Amino acid sequence: MENKNFLMIPGPTPVPENVLLALARHPIGHRTKEFSRLFRAVTDRLSWLHQTQGEVMTLATSGTGAMEAAMINLLSPGDRVLCLVNGKFGERWAKVAAAYGMQVEVIDAPPGEPIDPARVQAHLKADPERVLKAVVVTHSETSTGVLNDLKTIAGLVKEHGEALTIVDAVTSLGAVSVPMDDWGLDAVASGSQKAYMLPPGLGFVALSERGWAAQKVSRSPKFYLDLAKYRKSLKEDTTPFTPAVGLVTALYESLEMLHREGLSELFARHGRMRDGVRAGVRALGLKPFVQDERFASAAITSVATTEAESIRSLMNKHYDIALAGGQDELKGQIFRIGHLGFVSDRDILTALGALEGTLRRLGHGDFTPGAGVGAALAVMAP
Ligand SMILES: *Cc1c(COP(=O)(O)O)cnc(C)c1O
Repeated sequence: MENKNFLMIPGPTPVPENVLLALARHPIGHRTKEFSRLFRAVTDRLSWLHQTQGEVMTLATSGTGAMEAAMINLLSPGDRVLCLVNGKFGERWAKVAAAYGMQVEVIDAPPGEPIDPARVQAHLKADPERVLKAVVVTHSETSTGVLNDLKTIAGLVKEHGEALTIVDAVTSLGAVSVPMDDWGLDAVASGSQKAYMLPPGLGFVALSERGWAAQKVSRSPKFYLDLAKYRKSLKEDTTPFTPAVGLVTALYESLEMLHREGLSELFARHGRMRDGVRAGVRALGLKPFVQDERFASAAITSVATTEAESIRSLMNKHYDIALAGGQDELKGQIFRIGHLGFVSDRDILTALGALEGTLRRLGHGDFTPGAGVGAALAVMAP
């Protein structure tokens, strides 16, 4: 059916109507009091979402731009950087660091498994001279659906004393709690097309005071992504370059919605959807790719099945639900259900009903009718 498509990919995510309507307005001039008022309100709400006393920089980039900004503002060519890699995004940050001439060290884990903090600890302990400059962590690894133990890892980095913690929070911020100040995170990057309920186009970076101190002495080449420029402009509630005015207007609406929902319900809703999807998928005879519940992302669930591509195509064809596939060696081995942002319990029940219909079409009728929805309801509405 036309106009019935529902995105359950891990970004872009669905956008609420009031946010879409904000995008339909004429752009306002960005060097005006009106824009500055809007930008101040948005920036304050971003601090709330990041649970920080500091300020969040809004860039006209995708999430990768925000992450690149975090890395090149805190680090310099030649710096030793430890990248934690258990999926495609972790790999990307190792590539960014290498592109800027940093010395990349890697701790990895197989896809679907979390990074082992004990290995991070051992690596940090093996640096008595305190030469290591940063540890780069992908909090929610979207390529697999693993939620890494950021709190523990950041605590270990704190014990090291010198290294900074740089976090890709692109699919965790707004879906799970990322208390930046409490956990001592030095840079947190995210992007608009994930839990922010916006189209793609904005990147966000927040730095700690230690992060800003490192920013002052960093020698990586930068111009558009020089965060000192953004911080200076923010003192006048504005941006150094033309902001994505329309997206900032829409961001105001989406942040107000998130604020009305409140942090605790926001995180509870994402947790409930994760639990519902995992229970429902299991009841339909499928296996969540991330086995250990403790490391299952609240934003995205990967399902292991060699029928992944047929399932995706039938879900699209018969139910207008778009799911994501696996990437690289996981292609055809998993499909991924995005459940972050403007997604509700109802959407999860719908998706599980559709998944059941899809499995029936593929000849797997060997479960009680409604088994997936029933199992989800048992955990979502006990
Ligand atoms: C989406 C995403 C990004 C950013 O990707 P862009 O395409 O540059 O917006 C980064 N990290 C993770 C974990 C993501 O899910």
